[in-house]
Amino acid sequence: MATLGSSGGTTAVLKKFDIRANKRYGQNFLIDGNILNKIISAAEITKDDTVIEIGPGIGGMTQYLCEAAGEVWAFEIDKKLLPVLDDTLKEYENVHIINQDILKVDITRFLAENHITKPVKVVANLPYYITTPIIMGLLESKAPIDSITIMIQKEVADRMISLPGKKTYGALSLAVQYYTEAEAVAIVPPTCFIPQPKVSSTVMRLKIRKTPVVEVLDEEMLFTLIRASFNQRRKTLLNGLKNYPKLGFSPSEITEAIEKLGKPATVRGEELSLEEFAMLSNIFTEK
Ligand code: SAM
Repeated sequence: MATLGSSGGTTAVLKKFDIRANKRYGQNFLIDGNILNKIISAAEITKDDTVIEIGPGIGGMTQYLCEAAGEVWAFEIDKKLLPVLDDTLKEYENVHIINQDILKVDITRFLAENHITKPVKVVANLPYYITTPIIMGLLESKAPIDSITIMIQKEVADRMISLPGKKTYGALSLAVQYYTEAEAVAIVPPTCFIPQPKVSSTVMRLKIRKTPVVEVLDEEMLFTLIRASFNQRRKTLLNGLKNYPKLGFSPSEITEAIEKLGKPATVRGEELSLEEFAMLSNIFTEK
């Protein structure tokens, strides 16, 4: 039975092993059973599912995952937590703990090597200092992933679901919306963690799209354009693209492409929707 979704359970484990949360690894342990249940139900986990957890910590969420899923593979960077996990997860036979930095894992290869063929569900209370590289790594890997249900800093969640013209709109919004259907499931106050983070958090569910939401001839071109447009976000799209040598088009070709998109020369990148970025990308690809 899960014993850790509470303040008392977590404090007792920390005391028993004489450990403290390590700030360097973004350790904030979730102590609210209701939120844990909400995460499991948002991820729609069944006994048919294989789950990948990033950062099991002392095993609080892992206990809930083990009870709901068929199999759980959990990647934890902090060696000191391994004996703790041995203890808190001792009653579960369907969990594998891997002491590895998730940013160094080739997830496609990992799944193939372990004969995991059915799309997996990723569930995590992420270390906030590396949220974006973890998410972008998973999305760009094109690994067989069904969904990613994550606790992240609210400000990052707001960026993920932001729309053109908003201050929070940027490369992360476009990448997340290109690859996934993103939905905020719950807002979680700092009091639900030990130690308490300085910021509020959001549980996000990212359902990986099976078919692209926009038609793009060359994805690399799309993301090069997006990076170029937000690299200097106060500049016009025209200047942003001109100042991005990697794009490799002349100023007149860029002016022509923006005209073809039907936008004025003064338009800023942050005003373009995903559909418009896709159109612009296809204009350049066809050149
Ligand atoms: N899952 C636990 C919970 O909900 O209470 C802990 C979540 S805590 C916010 C983040 C966890 O990720 C910590 O256990 C931390 O050590 C681990 N972590 C940090 N960086 C990591 C990395 N690069 N790879 C794998 N785990 C990492």
